[in-house]
Amino acid sequence: MTIYVREGTAEDGGFIINNGIHVTKRELEILALIGMGLDNHEAAEKLFVSVNTVRNHIWNLMQKLGATSRAHAIVLAVQNGIIEVKHERSLGTYVRGFDKYVLCILCGKANLIDDYKEGEPKKVIINHVEYEIDNMPKCPSEGCRGDISYTLDWDKVRKHHSEYPEIPEHGVVYDYDIEWFRGY
Ligand SMILES: [Zn+2]
Repeated sequence: MTIYVREGTAEDGGFIINNGIHVTKRELEILALIGMGLDNHEAAEKLFVSVNTVRNHIWNLMQKLGATSRAHAIVLAVQNGIIEVKHERSLGTYVRGFDKYVLCILCGKANLIDDYKEGEPKKVIINHVEYEIDNMPKCPSEGCRGDISYTLDWDKVRKHHSEYPEIPEHGVVYDYDIEWFRGY
């Protein structure tokens, strides 16, 4: 789990919240570290400040947000869109249904759909008229020409290959039955 501090509109990258209260970037950085499990000493070390500075920042931030505890401050900051909590992709989160695996039928590799790289839009000329067409996200496997249209949901693959694991091994090439796909 990672906590990201969003870029605010205040001069220092912090946020101006209700009644013009300025929540500073530094206060939020400290809150994010605390939220990720660091204690005051560890947060101080990481940011090259004293432990007292960390305590003051947290205290000030709690007052500004109207929080009754550090945990409450984190929840309020998330609710207000100031910080963002991102879950790590892992087999555990896949099981809970957050992550989606797909199989590229050109290279046969199983990848997380999030790993597909954003494609560049390209220009095509048809009858002297130039069109810009969206390019599909690209398969992350090196040298593979596959895009998102060459993928199958892992769940669908498993329906025909129940011997395959419920969660594919990331980046592993599966001996995929292309004949079955043609009839699909
Ligand atoms: Zn591929």
